[in-house]
Amino acid sequence: MSTTLTNTVSTVSHPREVERLIAGQATSDGDGVKLTRVLTQPLQRRLDPFLMLDAFGTDNPDDYIGGFPDHPHRGFETVTYMIAGRMRHRDSAGHEGLLQNGGVQWMTAGRGVIHSELPEQDEGRMEGFQLWLNLPAKDKMTAPWYRDIQSSDIPEFTTDEGVTVRVIAGSSHGVAGAVQREATQPLYLDLHLPEGARFEQPLAAAHNAFIYVYRGELRVGDTPVAAQRMAILKNEADRDGVVVTAKAATRALLIAGQPLREPIAQYGPFVMNSNEEIFQAVEDFKAGRLAV
Ligand code: FE
Repeated sequence: MSTTLTNTVSTVSHPREVERLIAGQATSDGDGVKLTRVLTQPLQRRLDPFLMLDAFGTDNPDDYIGGFPDHPHRGFETVTYMIAGRMRHRDSAGHEGLLQNGGVQWMTAGRGVIHSELPEQDEGRMEGFQLWLNLPAKDKMTAPWYRDIQSSDIPEFTTDEGVTVRVIAGSSHGVAGAVQREATQPLYLDLHLPEGARFEQPLAAAHNAFIYVYRGELRVGDTPVAAQRMAILKNEADRDGVVVTAKAATRALLIAGQPLREPIAQYGPFVMNSNEEIFQAVEDFKAGRLAV
């Protein structure tokens, strides 16, 4: 699903600036999968409604071959975006899907899912991202839901400056993304910018927003943002969006959303609003009631 736009209208007059640059933390999760946790727990309040962003990218099968065997989730959504590689997903509700090059899996854990995410390759490159998006309190115990979105089903467009924009969620320059969410209004764009290209995106002033550069380098205002860096964008009432300029051929994620402003209680793969709800999740999991 691809369209070419010409004469893209300039719509951002007071762009946001960078508040902080974040390098992320090297860690491993699942069965020894090496990854970089870009959005860590201390940033959850600042980047509400987003709870976590992991980036993984390696040519070494030892770094990913173990995958993520059966594990539970409750209370939020996971959005997995594969740049390269193949990962098979199976869950307790009987869903199964293959996530591959350029595709997205959007999973709403709701009241509970137990699933595995296992590489379906034993050589070659594995690269991608997993974003955790919170659910509002009223939806945390909703029925689980998931959708595999093949790469060809992700709406995309190219601007007159040659910037290709893949619209995973929300909308950009009139192109509606693959997924919409009312409570958190997530915007999830994958930007492919040629050297020197400029791209602008209107953003609601109250929405929390960040950019993660995964190849190349860009500038936000006067601030350079190098590869493997997350730029948290300032929230100021008079700012109407963001403008980025690529210093080299660059690929970056632009992610924004409406904060929920609700208490966050996290214990591993459970994200609820109170400790009582976390104890309940642990009890339900131990008793085999989490995903029934
Ligand atoms: Fe998972």
